[in-house]
Amino acid sequence: MADIGLAAFSIFFMQSPSFLARQRALAESRGRSNAQTLLGMTTIPCDNHIRQMLDGAPTDHFDAVFAGLVRDLDERGGLAPLRCLKGRTLIALDGSEHFCSRKITCPHCSTRKRADGATEYFHSFVGATLVAPGHATVLPLPPEFVRPQDGAKKQDCEPTAARRWLARLGPAYAWLKPVYLGDDLYAHQPMCAAILAVGGSFILGCKPSSHKTLTEYLRGVALDGFRETKGVGSAKRIHRYRWMTELPLRDGKDALKVNWLEIEIAKPDGKVTYRNSFITDLPVSRRTVVDLAACGRTRWKIENETFNVLKNNGYNLEHNPHGELVGPRPRPHPRPQVQGKREITQKIGKLGYKLPPQRAPDQMTVNPESVPCGNLATYPF
Ligand SMILES: [Zn+2]
Repeated sequence: MADIGLAAFSIFFMQSPSFLARQRALAESRGRSNAQTLLGMTTIPCDNHIRQMLDGAPTDHFDAVFAGLVRDLDERGGLAPLRCLKGRTLIALDGSEHFCSRKITCPHCSTRKRADGATEYFHSFVGATLVAPGHATVLPLPPEFVRPQDGAKKQDCEPTAARRWLARLGPAYAWLKPVYLGDDLYAHQPMCAAILAVGGSFILGCKPSSHKTLTEYLRGVALDGFRETKGVGSAKRIHRYRWMTELPLRDGKDALKVNWLEIEIAKPDGKVTYRNSFITDLPVSRRTVVDLAACGRTRWKIENETFNVLKNNGYNLEHNPHGELVGPRPRPHPRPQVQGKREITQKIGKLGYKLPPQRAPDQMTVNPESVPCGNLATYPF
């Protein structure tokens, strides 16, 4: 089973779906392979065997790998650049699909009806990623999979899965002093209460159309605000900030009180190029509004620098769990991107990790936390 887990991980690590096939050929022709010497595998299983064995394995078995990685990174100072808002960290939550088909299905598929009457089967999950303004590096945390019984509509499913993520993993990551980021779908009382219950704070996108009570309070009052000019020449932009504190998130006496802020970016001729508003439990003032808006805008990194990288940069996230490849096929890999031990060692070394010591096959035991982690943007599904 350890070999199978390592084999699945190796495909993400090497970013090559043909890695195992090449390693099997190497093992047959030379008696050993990189999979054995570098990753510590004793035998190289075939793709079908990997699927059969992993399909029944609960994904939360990998939670300890993520937790160990984050702790290890923090102890080595690796989280320092990701800290913001006086030592806090930003955890962006967002949903994404990793399988969709009109023909292939399984008992765990979610379904939806399309305009032409056809039924579409899909799998989706809520991802969680450590992000920071101004930093391209992101650090994914374990995902929570959306279950079809969560609800028939996306709007029902994703928040339910996100609250399940918070209940399962929120306490374990409370030491990060997290500020959770999410889009408008997350900016509702049950989600805010779930975040506060696990010791977190939130900065969540807030559309006027889905927050009518809160928006009513903003009408006809003089809001606090200020503007500043950034950039020069053609890059010159005017940043306008407005905010208001202690607003009810919804109708009713039990409504949570939140703080609201808005950022608007305009060209010198007045044309607005960006506008977004957020709700937060953090204090909003002239002193904090710029940083809070910058943190709220960082949410998009889970889409661009996490999901898009996992789907389009060789990690084959959409290599579906049903055994058939769907959607756009990944670019062919004429040969593995990394072939020799030296190159692989250098690649791992750059990330600050050391390979586990070599051991004889009969002495091998696999501790999930000792698995060498090759790339921080990897979900080892
Ligand atoms: Zn399915």
